[in-house]
This record gives sequence, C-alpha cells and structure tokens, in this order.
Amino acid sequence: MAPVSRPSSMASATQLDPDLWLLDLAFQGAPNVIAAFLITGRDGHTLIETGPGSTLPALDEAVSQAGERVEDITQLAVTHIHLDHAGAAGALLRRLPDARLFVHPVGAPHMIDPSKLLASATRIYGDAMDRLWGAFEPCPADRVVTLADDAELRAGARTLRALHTPGHASHHIAFVDMEHRTAFTGDVAGVRLGAVPYVRPPTPPPDIDIPAWHESAHRLRSLGLRALDLTHFGRIPGAANHLDTLVRNLDDWLAWTTDRLRRGEDPAIIAEELMRKGEMDVIRAGGSAADAAAYELATPSRMSVDGIARYVKRR
Ligand SMILES: [Zn+2]
Repeated sequence: MAPVSRPSSMASATQLDPDLWLLDLAFQGAPNVIAAFLITGRDGHTLIETGPGSTLPALDEAVSQAGERVEDITQLAVTHIHLDHAGAAGALLRRLPDARLFVHPVGAPHMIDPSKLLASATRIYGDAMDRLWGAFEPCPADRVVTLADDAELRAGARTLRALHTPGHASHHIAFVDMEHRTAFTGDVAGVRLGAVPYVRPPTPPPDIDIPAWHESAHRLRSLGLRALDLTHFGRIPGAANHLDTLVRNLDDWLAWTTDRLRRGEDPAIIAEELMRKGEMDVIRAGGSAADAAAYELATPSRMSVDGIARYVKRR
C-alpha cells in the first residue's frame, strides 16, 4: 500500500517556559517524533533545529500556534546536520534574508554544499528521499557561523553554550542553558518518545563513535541539569537517569548487533531482528506496539545496524 501523505494539521506548539516553545513538526503525519524549539526574543527569535524540508509547512503552522511569526526568526541553530535536524535550514535562510545559521565547524561545509550529504542519504533512502525529507537547499556561506566547543550563543534572554558532543555524529553540538539547567541535546542523549520511559540509541552511518559518545554523555551528566530537551522528543526531566539509561542501552545494542555481524548474519536480517527486539524493549518499558512504530520512524533499525556495521569495520 502506498504511504498516505497526511496534511500537517498534527503540528502543534507547547510552551515549556515563557520564552520557549516545543514545536511538533508532525513528521510523516506522526506526532511526537521530530521537534524543533523556538526561543523568543525582543530582537528576534532563535530556532533550535529546523526539521527536514518536508516539515516546513508544519513548522509554519506550529510557530503560528505559538503566536509567533517565522519572519521574526533571526537565528537558526542545529545540533547536527542530519536531514531530520537541519534539512530545512537552506530554505529558511532563503526566506529570512537576515537570519544566520549556527552549526558545528565539521558540519558547516556540508550545509553550504550538501551534495555529499545528499548522495550518502540517497544511498540509504533511495526513492523515499523526497517523501521523507523534502528539499535540502544549500546555505549561503556568508550566513553560516561555526561554533567552537563551549562557544556562547545569545538567544533572546538566554545564553546557550555549544558543547561539542560527538558520538552520534562527529559534528554534534548540545546547546546547554546553565541558567535554566536544561540542554537541547539533539541525538546525543538518544531517543525517548512520548510517555514511554525507554531510551533508544540512534546509531546511523557514517560516523558514530562509541567511546566519544560515552564521554559526551558523561560530560552532559556532570552539568547537573534538571531536564533535557530532546529533538526526538520533547522535555525529559531528570538528566542523570536518562543519560545512564542511554549509555546502558547503547552498549546493549552495540554488543547485540556486533555479535550477529561477527557471526556473518545478513545485515537485513539483523535489522529485522533488532526491530523486534526494539519493539519488545518498548513494550517491556510499558509502551504499546504503536509507540514502538514511532521509535522505528525516529530511528529505523536498518540504519542503526548499518551504522554499527560501518563503525565495527572502521575499527
Ligand atoms: Zn535525529
């Protein structure tokens, strides 16, 4: 059956703080899978994560539900350059001639010239590229600003620190707000959807790094944060527990997958088994089969297995 393309009317905005909105981009018509965050400010708003090109209408809708205007966004900041986090940046910069994009130095060249990024994504997604992700437009070089480790970014009344947090990707930043004791963690703190207390480690190709990931989780844990704002999905209270669970599940998935790869099993079969294991993990944590399907949408098993296979081979 062909996938039904649903209207973006599932998009929504939830106020987390007087100046902070969680935007649900209703990815593929599903709520609670891909988020962006809007920090409002008198001199312009900051958007943390842009979502992919395919959710731009939903972004518009969510921003207007927050009572704000996309036209008032002056800063885009992305945790990393994967399509679900940064795909709409170029289109937004075209629409917002005074806005700038803040990104990790390793990611910046690919935002300016996304051809390599798109070629490798096309190898993974093939025909589904456009339906899933929409267009990824290049960003004008003079409006791309790189953030060194621990660099400060002013966002409205907030000061964010750009912590380089490799592991999920070499070009990953967590934006830490020490005053509010929260952080926008992109994918380095894993995936936890809805009310299910289960943290899935997203391990896509091409450059996961497990020791670096442990170190990044440790670094975030040491900050004594009271909550994490996850792109997949939303505000999680209690950073330490969450990060401990992530690291435990990361090690578990790595060992489970590596074991099967070493035995020479077919990665496609391993991915199917991992999907079933993932579903059991979600159900054991109190979630439903529908919750498990949402986890699979946010971080497909096939990609997780491919990422681990590539990581193991490289080492
Ligand atoms: Zn992601």
